[in-house]
Amino acid sequence: MSRAAMYQKAAEITDEYLLPSIRATVDPQATLPRGRLITILHTLQGSVAGSTSIREYMSPVRWSSGIYAVRLDIQKVSTAEQASATIIHEVAHLVDNTLILQGKTSAYGWISEALAVNAEDYAARLSLGGTAKVVAPGPKAPLPPNTVATHLRSSATPNPSETSPYSIKTPWYGAYERGARILRYAAEKVGGVAEVYRRLAATAPAWNAPDEERLAAWGIDRLAEVVGMTAEQLLTESMLAEVTDDLVSEQDAARHGLPQLEAWRHVNEPLADRAPIPLDRTVTQARPAQIVGGGYIAWRIPGLRGHGLSLKADGIPAQHEVRLTRLR
Ligand SMILES: [Zn+2]
Repeated sequence: MSRAAMYQKAAEITDEYLLPSIRATVDPQATLPRGRLITILHTLQGSVAGSTSIREYMSPVRWSSGIYAVRLDIQKVSTAEQASATIIHEVAHLVDNTLILQGKTSAYGWISEALAVNAEDYAARLSLGGTAKVVAPGPKAPLPPNTVATHLRSSATPNPSETSPYSIKTPWYGAYERGARILRYAAEKVGGVAEVYRRLAATAPAWNAPDEERLAAWGIDRLAEVVGMTAEQLLTESMLAEVTDDLVSEQDAARHGLPQLEAWRHVNEPLADRAPIPLDRTVTQARPAQIVGGGYIAWRIPGLRGHGLSLKADGIPAQHEVRLTRLR
């Protein structure tokens, strides 16, 4: 496919899924500005895309030009689906940024990326089935054409990133993966990401409030609060849901109080993908792990008749939790 044809296809996919995805994750009333959306293709330093020139100091006057501008790196975008997902992601940032026009701080910190990734993910699920609730394809079934790509691996899309979504390498990278999943889990408690966003935006401080105030307004404690949980509950439950979703029967999950994700079918993501390296029971081995706060690492320990298991953890912080979840 020529570059021109690829961009044409990307525009078609974007036209179809952009608004419904933005409305489901950011603002149910969102519309595109009269000037429509402009996508600028060029080479960027370091990243695949950037949204706009919009910053906190941007005045309503400049917004009145009615243009959303998204910059895409022509070198790093290789498929129409990826280009489309990236545009949807950036427009989610832009619509979020319009909170500034109300004098409020827009999503701040990791949650802004989590939000934009959820918009991508919603588009991917829409493109699969015309509904946000995916009817999952078989684990090996190829995805239909025009399925929007996203950072989140689920039955809606393979994960285009090379590293496992279950380890958090840097806090920043984690925003797109673990962060997006935490937001997604929280959203299921209250009927969708847009509802979470509405609740957070309702009490967001002024755009020029001190940094700590802005971070707190969009932070993990506040997110948990607006869905009726504590941060610790949200982190623990969402983590358990990620690691075990669709690996045990619905009845067993309900019986043991194991949190699961509703609008997500993890069939493309068997346990071996979530925790690729199994721990062998027949030898003693050490595994180094680096986990940021609120994150986790999961190991798969296959059963082996006649062999027990002992775990020893060194150098771990005082506040930690080790869980053994038996899946069969
Ligand atoms: Zn982003």
